[in-house]
Amino acid sequence: MEIGTASAEPGTLARGWLEVADLPTGGTERLPVVIAAGDADGPTLWVTASVHGDEVTPLAVAQDLVRTVSPAEIRGTLVCVPIYNPAGLRLTTRRSYYHRDDPNRYFPALDRAGEFEGEDRTRPPRTQERIDRQVYDAIADSADAVCDLHTAGIGSMPYLIRDQVLFGTERDRTAAEDLDSAFDDLVEAIGLPVVHEFPVPEYFDRNFHRTLSGSALNTVGVPAATIELGGHTVVDGPIRELALGGLYRVLVALDMLDAVPEGVGTGTTADADPIEAPVSYPVKRHDGPRVSATGIVRHRVEAGDAVEEGDPVAEVLTPHGETEEVVESDHDGYVLARKPGVSVYANDPVCSMAVRDDSDRIVPRSE
Ligand SMILES: [Zn+2]
Repeated sequence: MEIGTASAEPGTLARGWLEVADLPTGGTERLPVVIAAGDADGPTLWVTASVHGDEVTPLAVAQDLVRTVSPAEIRGTLVCVPIYNPAGLRLTTRRSYYHRDDPNRYFPALDRAGEFEGEDRTRPPRTQERIDRQVYDAIADSADAVCDLHTAGIGSMPYLIRDQVLFGTERDRTAAEDLDSAFDDLVEAIGLPVVHEFPVPEYFDRNFHRTLSGSALNTVGVPAATIELGGHTVVDGPIRELALGGLYRVLVALDMLDAVPEGVGTGTTADADPIEAPVSYPVKRHDGPRVSATGIVRHRVEAGDAVEEGDPVAEVLTPHGETEEVVESDHDGYVLARKPGVSVYANDPVCSMAVRDDSDRIVPRSE
């Protein structure tokens, strides 16, 4: 397999670069690429990291994966892009600095009507969109499954985001069911609490169909997960180890590897225990509850706490410390993270939550 300057013969590991854009100051922007090509045939797993430049535990996980994986032992091919957003990484910022675009909202994708949305329809594509297009083409050419590694925010618990599987003109319901069932295997292997993505139509309103994993799942049509690995800007050692184990379990689940190797990484083993979700029912992402008062927020919950509708999760204080409002949970669920900062204006959410979800996993694209 060949991606950019990385070219791997069967049984070898190749490191190279994918040149994606010219820079105004000379030289080119290039993404590091590692290809581990097994001796035997098998699927191709893509692992991408640090699409957001301040999300660095993913980078460490990706580096550890490609320096421990043995091409002689795998069937199929592992493709890894440890630094998807070099411009963001240099500044420790989420977005790339070319035009301050969010790299994870520009992947080509089918829209609600099933029309291909390859670029913004009101202007020619900017640098980040052009980069996303090039990587999309490489993924669409080769990927059988995708793990896109992120972090969610300060103090966040790790979890996996699972998008709804859509059907329409591009695939029928039966094909969508097959895709969802293949997605099950990947999700279980990772071993993190599963949180469903915002459902359709909010999915389209927020442009989540154009995230890397949204585009890979619902346009390319392969299992693709967004994996959230805790907080930003510094590497979290235990979560890194847990995620490394999860990726090895994915290799096993895809029948690319016989077993998770023992003692991989610098912590315990790559087979670190999966994290249990704090509740047993299905959940989806939710920003809330929201405050009515403007003031200083003081949380009464933290990441991982299960709550029921009506439970107090925070209060809003005046600058002098008097209670203005007690904020109650608007759903059953659990806290993924407290929103960063303590200043809140009316209608601001105070938590990132995972709340009870009764929606279908497989839905018409146009729903
Ligand atoms: Zn991210």
